[in-house]
Amino acid sequence: VAEKQTLGFQAEVKQLLQLMIHSLYSNKEIFLRELISNASDASDKLRFEAMNNNALFEDDPELKIKVTFDKAARTITISDNGIGMSRDDAIEHLGTIAKSGTKEFFSKLSGDQQKDAALIGQFGVGFYSAFIVADKITVDSRRAGLPADQGVRWESGGEGDFSVEQIDKPARGTDITLHLREGEDEFLSLWKLKSVIRKYSDHISLPILMQKEEWDEEKKETVVRDEFETVNQASALWTRSKSEVTKEQYEEFYKHVSHDFEAPLAYTHNRVEGRSEYTQLLYIPARAPFDLWDRNKRGGIKLYVKRVFIMDDAEQLMPVYLRFVKGVIDSADLPLNVSREILQESRDVKVIREGSTKRVLGLLEELANAEEQEQKDKYATFWTEFGQVLKEGIGEDQGNKERIAKLLRFASTHNDNDAQTVSFADYIGRMKEGQEKIFYVTADNFAAAKNSPHLEIFRKKGVEVLLLTDRVDEWMLSFLHEVEGKELASVAKGDLDLGKLEDEAEKKQHEETETQYKELVEKMKTALSDKAKDVRVTFRLTDSPACLVADENELSGNLLRMLKAAGQ
Ligand code: ADP
Ligand code: MG
Repeated sequence: VAEKQTLGFQAEVKQLLQLMIHSLYSNKEIFLRELISNASDASDKLRFEAMNNNALFEDDPELKIKVTFDKAARTITISDNGIGMSRDDAIEHLGTIAKSGTKEFFSKLSGDQQKDAALIGQFGVGFYSAFIVADKITVDSRRAGLPADQGVRWESGGEGDFSVEQIDKPARGTDITLHLREGEDEFLSLWKLKSVIRKYSDHISLPILMQKEEWDEEKKETVVRDEFETVNQASALWTRSKSEVTKEQYEEFYKHVSHDFEAPLAYTHNRVEGRSEYTQLLYIPARAPFDLWDRNKRGGIKLYVKRVFIMDDAEQLMPVYLRFVKGVIDSADLPLNVSREILQESRDVKVIREGSTKRVLGLLEELANAEEQEQKDKYATFWTEFGQVLKEGIGEDQGNKERIAKLLRFASTHNDNDAQTVSFADYIGRMKEGQEKIFYVTADNFAAAKNSPHLEIFRKKGVEVLLLTDRVDEWMLSFLHEVEGKELASVAKGDLDLGKLEDEAEKKQHEETETQYKELVEKMKTALSDKAKDVRVTFRLTDSPACLVADENELSGNLLRMLKAAGQ
């Protein structure tokens, strides 16, 4: 038998505990949501593993979650008969944070508690949130399939370390016992616990059981009976019809699947029938995750087949440019033993991905085109958080390119500020008579774009120019040549063709000027022969004496700088 062992938490866990206890105190009841969410995940995992090994159910096939408390001992216990943990699992999952990008995340914390508190919610607090109300936590667990004497007891006071020891645990699964801090006795009440569960965990598809309470005529008080009742609806939320689900329930379910702390921006819930049969419940978060740009990050879709959980992060169900979408897809067609490899090839998956993409774009269009200010603000938030990712869709998703283009928002000389609010439709609606093209300038940052000498002639003529300063813009533009039949043209490339915007008098004057300076231009060409490909008289400047211009088919100055910076 292995000895009791004391181990230190990973440095980030210590930081998380510190910060969380202080910053989430006003929201402390969420610990119950987090622990029930984990119990539900553990049951999903058991059901999944048991598909290939029915023995894992032992003689206890009915999955459930029990919440009990002991007034005298001042403890609350959350029990599940899910997958459970081995000793190694407990050390790994309850002593470290497995999320990718954890180190980077913690290095970004400022030390300013208020700012960091907002960030911590975004990171997701999970199991450790129990330390907000408990000064000691005991976790007794046994992994499904291991013998009864291979249980583990994990215990910690939430300071720097935890202990693990081997215990006998006949019942599979996990019991988490919270020893409440001084002053947290309000949770030692059936009524209180039930109301917290109904508020945050009603959507959990397993039954959550609590004891019944009864008035005792002799004692003249309510007493807790040994009989249990289910306190939640206990049906998978996405299988309910829309009219039966409240906004709050949708939002709590989002927090469960996304491990996010904030409410989502918007969601869409549909049952699709026909060629392929599936249910989708998809959410757009209100805030970009800290690891949005992490290359190893997978999508946020949980895949179920006929209500059986199959896998987290099923990235094949969403295109990469919609990787911020979270939610559940439940297919009626896929086989239960589907693997990531099979998903890659599957026709059904392709149909689901296309259908889900259309739904998400539809949801974004609804926000973008809404009349109500609240919806409009939501789109503005969406654009700030995820606009750069959506732009990847212009290159990635040829089939939906036009729809995506309509969702794009830019800064422009019309507003002359860096807020990206102008759509192509706005721009086209303001085009001058005789203007044929949509003009843009690209630069590293807003100040550079706004002050570009290339804009002078446009400002003079009152022609609007889009100011593009995101890293992905150049790449995106290589896939986007026209919108609504209007060509996109860089103000910094090639011959500046203002088309009909130039009147006859101007043209004549330009020709005269060119003749006048012919000799000077020739001299400059010779002098600059190893530095410039060509020298021309320009009419695009009104204030600056000269500017550099890229060839029509050449990489632009901005892209060249980017490639150089990347060491190309
Ligand atoms: P998350 O749920 O986002 O993974 P948590 O901090 O909530 O993060 O939980 C950490 C990990 O601890 C889980 O991923 C899981 O591996 C393990 N765990 C927590 N609670 C349970 C449980 N009741 N049964 C089995 N494993 C659990
Ligand atoms: Mg969790």
